[in-house]
Amino acid sequence: PEEQFAPDPSKKTLVVLGTGWGSVALLKKLDTANYNVVVISPRNYFLFTPLLPSCTTGNIEHRSIMEPVRQILRHKKAHAKFYEAEATHIDVDRKVIKISDNSDIKGKVNETEVPYDMLVVGVGAENATFGIPGVREHSCFLKEIPDAQAIRTKIMDCVETAAFKDQAPEEIDRLLHMVVVGGGPTGVEFAGELRDFFDDDIQKLIPDIAPRFKVTLIEALPNVLPMFSKQLIDYTESTFKEEHINILTKTMVKKVTDRTVEAEITGPDGKKSTLTIPYGLLVWATGNTIRPIVKDLMNQIPAQKDSRRGLAVNEYLVVQGSRDIWAVGDCAVAGYAPTAQVASQEGAFLARLFNNMAKTQDLEQKIHDLSTGLNLKPGNAAEDSQEIAGLEKQLRRIKDIKPFHYSHQGSLAYIGSEKAVADVAWLNGNVASGGKLTYLFWRSAYLSMCFSTRNRVLVALDWIKAKLYGRDISRE
Ligand code: FAD
Ligand code: NAD
Repeated sequence: PEEQFAPDPSKKTLVVLGTGWGSVALLKKLDTANYNVVVISPRNYFLFTPLLPSCTTGNIEHRSIMEPVRQILRHKKAHAKFYEAEATHIDVDRKVIKISDNSDIKGKVNETEVPYDMLVVGVGAENATFGIPGVREHSCFLKEIPDAQAIRTKIMDCVETAAFKDQAPEEIDRLLHMVVVGGGPTGVEFAGELRDFFDDDIQKLIPDIAPRFKVTLIEALPNVLPMFSKQLIDYTESTFKEEHINILTKTMVKKVTDRTVEAEITGPDGKKSTLTIPYGLLVWATGNTIRPIVKDLMNQIPAQKDSRRGLAVNEYLVVQGSRDIWAVGDCAVAGYAPTAQVASQEGAFLARLFNNMAKTQDLEQKIHDLSTGLNLKPGNAAEDSQEIAGLEKQLRRIKDIKPFHYSHQGSLAYIGSEKAVADVAWLNGNVASGGKLTYLFWRSAYLSMCFSTRNRVLVALDWIKAKLYGRDISRE
């Protein structure tokens, strides 16, 4: 019945925006019995992003790395509401969020408001294009499931079009030229997956065009994977050479058209020249920028005036200058890299904080009740004051919450040909390794990090399926 799910007026309403790494880590550990929990996200599932590059070639099927948020919420102690919607405006004065249903099917109501007492912003970030002309119109991004699906379709479209009867050789070369812009881990992992796909499957199935297939990775800085140690950067670059992935470093893309990329390349003598590169598929992976909803929120808070990369938060992840608003993950600036590791630790921290806050309120209420009772019933005074002392001790312990502290477990990236690189924290030091063994480590680490056992089984089955039967190259 409806009233079973109606908000409890004695509890505060905690609204969580987003169903990504930060928000879901919070929901996983949050005691939902303490609050009226409302989750709002345009995506009704959690996405395990580390394996997204594998979905672009069909090595992993996309549903294997998705977990429905309703499935996650079903296991919570108390009911939590979910609305599939995009938050379009946070009104900090009225403490309400405007939400809008942006899905294809809309009801008579598709815009409304949700009030909050406490708000967690975990909306992530969007793809940076730096305003470079043509990027949004002509390239694919790699952030969400539809992006990976679009890439998978486009790869096969390029291949089949290249194999079209009477296709001219230079057009075949263009169509089979896959260009990746951005040498961060997203670009590197995608380039590796792409090369594997061609070497393992396309070459076998369409041998006549396969030798003309080419992957180019373009990076503005002097090297790829800047967050990895020098030794692993060198290892990645030499592995790419063996895999015939062409790396263009010190090359900044300036313009994109429907068939070419225009880039400025800085030579060893420091001289700049312009390069026009024809492509069939262009994947743009140049990192993050702030979402409009976050920009809009920052504009309402004077203390956020100087923050450039997202919501500046304090060591308890409270949005600086705001009342009752916290932020986690890629939309928050807490001094860490925008990674899943950071986002999930931040989410888990907030869950502990909120669980503690509820316990504190509970204890304070109990102490208050007992102390007022103490005045009324002098007979029980000794017993009551003993209990109060115990409760106060408990309260002090709970109130003493340490600020958020990030513990870096290491960085891992797949680089193709069943090789991976890893910079892993180990016994107060760092271990850097690269190669086939590291790849086995990469596989087992990501398998164990999958959201659910169901995800783990599906991913393992996909890997086995691809190994036995090859990737499915059907377009669509
Ligand atoms: P996200 O996980 O992006 O989630 C944001 C959520 O907010 C989504 O549910 C979104 O639908 C929702 N949302 C968006 N707009 C709104 C709105 N207006 N209102 C409400 N909800 C909204 N990091 C690692 O540590 N290791 C890796 O191996 C790794 N691999 C990656 C591979 C790829 C291909 C990519 C793209 C990223 C990878 N990352 C990795 C980075 C990692 O995915 C991000 O740092 C992480 O997702 C950030 O978590 P988040 O919760 O802030 O945002
Ligand atoms: P990134 O910000 O790490 O890298 C983007 C790269 O694009 C930069 O090296 C930048 O110099 C380059 N670039 C920017 N503009 C350019 C231009 N016009 N021309 C050429 N190059 C240009 O982005 P990402 O790889 O998408 O990663 C985003 C975040 O997600 C990072 O924090 C990363 O650590 C994390 N992530 C981690 C993993 C992993 O651990 N395996 C995988 C993917 C993403």
